[in-house]
Amino acid sequence: MWGSERMIDFPKARLKMVEEQIVHRGIQNPKIISAMKKIPRHLFVEEALQNQAYSDHPLPIGEKQTISQPYMVALMTESLQLTGEEKVLEIGTGSGYQSAILAELSEKVFSIERIRPLAIRARNLLYELGYFNVEIKIFDGTLGWMDESPFDAILVTAGSPDIPQPLVDQLGIGGRLVIPVGDAFSQDLFRVTKTEKGVKKEDLGGCRFVKLIGKYGWESE
Ligand code: SAM
Repeated sequence: MWGSERMIDFPKARLKMVEEQIVHRGIQNPKIISAMKKIPRHLFVEEALQNQAYSDHPLPIGEKQTISQPYMVALMTESLQLTGEEKVLEIGTGSGYQSAILAELSEKVFSIERIRPLAIRARNLLYELGYFNVEIKIFDGTLGWMDESPFDAILVTAGSPDIPQPLVDQLGIGGRLVIPVGDAFSQDLFRVTKTEKGVKKEDLGGCRFVKLIGKYGWESE
């Protein structure tokens, strides 16, 4: 039938993706599962790629950047241990998909993107979808968002050579920072928890992200 390749049942594909790639792989937080069942990931990618939006892999979003793999989005969100009352900082807005998940699981999301067209597109889409608890700024996220600190949770969605000190400084006591750290090709996902006595670092396993570029990240692409 003419155009049949475009007649995908997105809600059905989304439920299948969540059952097979998210629940089956061990994500247990019911709020993450229901957010992923609800949020239309296909709207966060360009039309030509929408038929791949419910496969479990990253996709290009322009500007040499990607929307992260759904399983990785779920794993990073689960690692933040959100209760629903947090003020969250995200570094690397990208398409805005991860911001929408965070908006479902917390009180308020501050998200920083260094590439203007991505930030503007994400801001418009999140507004259209009714996510009024997300604020997006075009800035170098390795410097954090000083005026809004301290944060209960910080998520970095790009790979860094090291943990940017400003982000640790802007975490509140008990706050969690989840960040991929490693070289340009592969990283380990770390959770840094700030306590009265210092910071606790946990290695959550291997991952692969585009570069975090900025004063406390990589110098260039
Ligand atoms: N969370 C995104 C999503 O759901 O689509 C995926 C983000 S993509 C893997 C990483 C993003 O980090 C890119 O959009 C990139 O431009 C951004 N980025 C890299 N370095 C940055 C920095 N210093 N500050 C803010 N954004 C940065």
